[in-house]
Amino acid sequence: TDLAGLLAAKIRDVPDYPKPGVVFKDIAPLLADAEAFAALVDHLAARAKALGASKIVGLEARGFILAAPAAYAAGAGFVPVRKEGKLPGDCYREAYDLEYGSAVIEVQTDAFLPGERVLVVDDVLATGGTVEAALSLIARAGAELAGVEVLMELGFLDGRARLAPLLGDAPLETV
Ligand code: IMP
Repeated sequence: TDLAGLLAAKIRDVPDYPKPGVVFKDIAPLLADAEAFAALVDHLAARAKALGASKIVGLEARGFILAAPAAYAAGAGFVPVRKEGKLPGDCYREAYDLEYGSAVIEVQTDAFLPGERVLVVDDVLATGGTVEAALSLIARAGAELAGVEVLMELGFLDGRARLAPLLGDAPLETV
């Protein structure tokens, strides 16, 4: 689509970051471009409305940058899913494996109303481990998944296949 082309032109490949052999997708040029950033945020907000989401979940940290303005534009609330130890009060925790070692993400236990429909937003879907853990948090917190929106998908890592069994009727969409 035109939108995908506009956005793809503003994503920069950075070789050997954060370590040798990895090609990092850098979205800073997209965020810095008023037209591309607005088009992306408007698209995410439109998807949130179409999917009937009343909350948008952003995954730390780049997911926050996209999810918060999309939530505002959609008239939805914003909920952060954060790395461990950053959120005060009662939280659900979920550990997941990284390429080396593991990580923990959390959401506050009172983040959602019972059965509330939520859209999950992040920049890059790689192995799918982060989104998988986030979906578990959302289920434990009593919300219903409306969909997952990612700016781009590193197809060779097969995150989509990993997430398929967890999505139910909710779509996993790349912009
Ligand atoms: P996953 O858990 O392997 O799917 O990794 C996804 C998470 O790592 C997301 O939160 C992304 O922001 C981040 N990530 C992985 N690869 C890249 C990249 O090339 N550019 C930007 N973020 C990335």
